[in-house]
Amino acid sequence: MGLPRGYCGLCVVCGEPGHIRHHPGAGRFTGTWCDFHYRVLAFTHPLAPLGTFLWLTVVASAIFAARHFVHY
Ligand SMILES: [Zn+2]
Repeated sequence: MGLPRGYCGLCVVCGEPGHIRHHPGAGRFTGTWCDFHYRVLAFTHPLAPLGTFLWLTVVASAIFAARHFVHY
């Protein structure tokens, strides 16, 4: 398939050579990502452990900000 040695597929996001691996969040979904996009996915996807933490932080600060700005 013309892939460089050591790579098993092309990244589904950018088409760069990458590795087939499980989605960081949804266990049953397997795809191919380059190292960069796998990391991006792990940080941004709500189902990934790090993504969950990130989104909880965002939601928590949104609630905190709302309580701070709304005086009742
Ligand atoms: Zn990529």
